[in-house]
Amino acid sequence: MNFSTEIMYIPGVGPKRAELLNKELSIYSVEDLLTYFPYRHIDRSRFYTIREINDAMPYIQLRGKIVRKEKIGEGRHQRLVAMFGDGTGFIELVWFKGLRYVEDKYRLNQEYVVFGKPTRFGSKINIVHPEIDLETEGGSKNILGLQALYNTSEKMKSHFLNSAALRKIIYTVISSLTSSLPETLPESIIRQYNFVSRHEAIVNIHFPANVEDLERATQRLKFEELFYIQLNIFYQNRLREQKYKGFVFASIGDKFNGFYKNHLTFALTNAQKRVLREIRSDMATGKQMNRLLQGDVGSGKTIVAFMSMLMAVDNGFQACLMAPTEILANQHFQSVGEMGRSIGLNVKLLTGSTKKKDRELLHEQLEDGQINILIGTHALIEDNVVFKNLGLVVIDEQHRFGVAQRAKLWVKNICPPHVLVMTATPIPRTLAMTVYGDLEVSVIDELPPGRKPIQTYHLFDNKRSALNGFIAKQVAAGHQIYIVYPLIQESENLDLKNLEDGYSLLKETFPLLHISMLHGKMKPADKEEEMRKFVAGETQILVATTVIEVGVNVPNASVMIIESAERFGLSQLHQLRGRVGRGADQSYCILMSSYKISNDTRKRLDVMVDTTDGFEIAEADLKMRGPGDLDGTQQSGLPFDLKIANLSHDGEVLNFARRVANDIITVDSTLDKSENQLLKRQLEHLCKRTINWGVIS
Ligand code: ADP
Ligand code: MG
Repeated sequence: MNFSTEIMYIPGVGPKRAELLNKELSIYSVEDLLTYFPYRHIDRSRFYTIREINDAMPYIQLRGKIVRKEKIGEGRHQRLVAMFGDGTGFIELVWFKGLRYVEDKYRLNQEYVVFGKPTRFGSKINIVHPEIDLETEGGSKNILGLQALYNTSEKMKSHFLNSAALRKIIYTVISSLTSSLPETLPESIIRQYNFVSRHEAIVNIHFPANVEDLERATQRLKFEELFYIQLNIFYQNRLREQKYKGFVFASIGDKFNGFYKNHLTFALTNAQKRVLREIRSDMATGKQMNRLLQGDVGSGKTIVAFMSMLMAVDNGFQACLMAPTEILANQHFQSVGEMGRSIGLNVKLLTGSTKKKDRELLHEQLEDGQINILIGTHALIEDNVVFKNLGLVVIDEQHRFGVAQRAKLWVKNICPPHVLVMTATPIPRTLAMTVYGDLEVSVIDELPPGRKPIQTYHLFDNKRSALNGFIAKQVAAGHQIYIVYPLIQESENLDLKNLEDGYSLLKETFPLLHISMLHGKMKPADKEEEMRKFVAGETQILVATTVIEVGVNVPNASVMIIESAERFGLSQLHQLRGRVGRGADQSYCILMSSYKISNDTRKRLDVMVDTTDGFEIAEADLKMRGPGDLDGTQQSGLPFDLKIANLSHDGEVLNFARRVANDIITVDSTLDKSENQLLKRQLEHLCKRTINWGVIS
């Protein structure tokens, strides 16, 4: 048996189980199996007695006998209950699935080792679906000591391919290996950083003899995983730099200077100035810019984008600005359009609702270069939109655009244009370094002066009358209010009902107020009209779904009320809150939730109450939910799964791996030196194995 052997040929697997492993876990080869790492290890080195058990305990191990077995209930609800005793007391073991198998397999009065999590069921404590082994197997490596737990799917479990079964298969493989597993890190790295060999690491991650061995195995495997990701990023970036040269925007010209001197109504913050310098130095040097601009809501990214576009225009190029929604595109068109016209630029808008006739004219003007700046939605990247000389693309609110869409922009000119991606969803550093590894990062970490931090409160639903009082007071003071309902799927009629009920109730409570309503199921023209009324101050309250999440700017709105706040993720809450606090007045964010919320939810809402710092919130989000769930990554499609490293906890390993990878590429950017051949081969191997891997570059 070797690394590439198909799993079907492993004793105890066979075609049926192989198919399950293929389909459920994408495990095809021995290599896949051995690199399917456990998510956790549990200590099976000690036994508990039934007398000491309580339901707060994690997984525990008992030794005793089954004294009685009994099927209870009928049909699908039938369960098997076994009474298990160890001399200090009795506990029930319960199965809801595989009753026949379990009933046949386990005998009365036989010494067993039972392993599972005690849970409370009514007044009793029992163990549901325990693992059971013969006491005589107890001496084998398979059972005692630190035991690995593996994730398996429901489907696998129903075919008895649970964590324990998987562990047995892996044990079979490891004990029948005829040679050491091939090494994947160069000798020099292993020696320099005192890593264990790949062979040792893989054996010990599955079957560690003690905590120290497990720790060393984990360190090596985490390093290796993150190292190759970073190496791939640096390697691909270098290749791209060599292949594509960027347009050179050599001079700062009349438009930029004229705008800066005569039309900029405020002083740029230091952070804005710094970012503009970073952008300028990218675009002036012949490299093709790929930059991520992170800045909290309200930090003033638009002006930076606009002034970057002026650099393009001053050098004879066109620029475009792409937004994720029509509302946002319109808003950008208003503000950027106005600034552009003030210095004699031709700024146009292109969205899905641009009329055919206008569109034709616009296409013409774009192609012969009359248009300097084009603003729009996805419509911008359609194939029939042809620029005369596109030099810079700005994408607002990155997380709504996928990597693939970004790639489409590249063919819009002979040379790929410079790309500036802006996001108000701060991305934790570790994620930025992996998911957006191809982007250089600029950060606006300073708000324009004079902003009062938004005050955030969390109220339970029973404080609704107090809330109504607050609404009345704020409106009387001339402020406007957003009320947002969760409508996670625009098709969920149930949610829509919440919104509509909320709207009717408000109308009843405040008969004299004017209220706008906005949700994704409305016709674009109606949406626009409702939004227009709110922007113009004709309505005092805007009841909406998360369609207003991104970018909308109404400085007079000073209160954001979020209904069923427990149903929103942290970054979404932060985005929503960012809709207020844009004017000079004190702004508020009120999180309404039911009284019955989980501990995690409470923590999430507490974070919102405690801080307005987007980066802190993003880090907290990453810690609480794990990177796979982050809004930002899910929507842009995290293109790979990490097998062992965890971006919320392994920041240090990541930094270290990045440094090592960078050092190697700095010396040998094409990985052609003889000592780097192993790295190159492994990189190619990894890119082939995980199809999407190359996409992260
Ligand atoms: P965001 O980064 O969320 O896109 P915007 O670009 O919409 O933020 O800016 C928010 C508001 O702050 C706008 O009204 C903008 O004109 C204003 N603004 C931007 N920069 C400054 C500054 N340096 N001083 C004062 N106001 C600013
Ligand atoms: Mg913005």
